Amino acid sequence: MLTQSPYPMISVEQALQAILTRTQPLSSERISFLEGQGRVLAEAVTAAEDLPSSPRSAVDGYAVAQLAAPGTLRVLGELTAGQVSSTRVEPGSAMRIMTGGLLPPGSDAVVMVEDTQEQDGLVHVSKGIQPGDNVHPTGQDLKREQVVLEPGRQLGPPEIGMLATVGHTAVSVFRRPRVAILATGDELVEPSETPPEGSIRDSNRFALIAAAREAGADVVWQRHGPDDRIALERLVREALDVSDVLITSGGVSMGTRDLIKPLLADLGQLQFGRIAFKPGKPLTFVTIEGKLAFGLPGYPVSSLVTFEVFVRPALLRLQGLQQALRPRVTVALEHVVRPDPVRLEYQRAAVRWVGGRLSARSTGSQGSSRLLSMIGANALLEIQPGPDRLPPGTAVPALLTGNLVAD
Ligand code: AMP
Ligand code: MG
Repeated sequence: MLTQSPYPMISVEQALQAILTRTQPLSSERISFLEGQGRVLAEAVTAAEDLPSSPRSAVDGYAVAQLAAPGTLRVLGELTAGQVSSTRVEPGSAMRIMTGGLLPPGSDAVVMVEDTQEQDGLVHVSKGIQPGDNVHPTGQDLKREQVVLEPGRQLGPPEIGMLATVGHTAVSVFRRPRVAILATGDELVEPSETPPEGSIRDSNRFALIAAAREAGADVVWQRHGPDDRIALERLVREALDVSDVLITSGGVSMGTRDLIKPLLADLGQLQFGRIAFKPGKPLTFVTIEGKLAFGLPGYPVSSLVTFEVFVRPALLRLQGLQQALRPRVTVALEHVVRPDPVRLEYQRAAVRWVGGRLSARSTGSQGSSRLLSMIGANALLEIQPGPDRLPPGTAVPALLTGNLVAD
């Protein structure tokens, strides 16, 4: 067993840079626009026509012509949304019109129904109006040839609505990354089994499947492997055959059965094998024939936190998102925090908005085997190394990993 790691220690920024400079959007595919929810546009979308294509009524009321003062007008008929009228509205006459109805020829404004009274074919209008009042002019919402969605934009409800508006029903989006997940460890059993003495249930595989899916990936392969070089090599090759990204858990530390690091390094180019980061110092990143492989540490918290900080940004970039990092905010500690003496530590916390500022409460003991410390956490506090305890009220940077806790 080695006593010193042969891998140079690099910083969090260096590690992120090493990952993101090797991560380009995957190819694109054309899919039906509603299937595009959550995906990222690989093309610009433009409006083919003005919207509205001609002036429309913004309210229910009466289309009028040059009605500067109150008056009584003859009602020529009724126009509902979708109808086109050829009847001309002259001064002294009006046409009943519904919201969205095309303005009839001759009319220049619409009086709201609330300002009118109709009886026996005549409508009395209680106040005069200006041309253009209560009218949506041509092109008010969209101009012909206007770019309405830029490439790189993620498709959510308004974007799906916009694609429908402009009739862009087949949309080009970046492919989702295909992810393979390999949990390693002789001690692991399936969640449905009762672990014999010395064994534990495999939780990382499932937490990582969920995390990868939440990050927009397609998990196409997942297995548990033993701590055996030959078996692991076979599994890693099988996984890489079907995926863009391989994520392994366990087997990257200093034990005699930690075989993943040298295995991945033999198959590709090791980019880094150690970071000044807690929890997850032995995180490993290797590129293998254009694919990415991440060796995550085995402790459940380490594997999820390293996924969050290093793997998730890569998965987002692969699907075309430029904004791959979580928002970074300043939070006030609600209690004492003890920094690690030498490593930058990402502590799990629940952040809420209290008294006009963001306030962070620890999720309890921060041991890297204690998965409970991630339950209810919506932030990772960036605690710089140092000898001194941080008192309550100290302002620290934090990555927001979830919604703010409602208080
Ligand atoms: P390793 O990085 O393989 O040395 O594992 C570190 C610790 O994490 C050990 O206590 C393992 O039992 C535990 N561990 C490794 N893999 C998993 C997993 N998939 N699920 C839960 N715990 C794990
Ligand atoms: Mg292990």
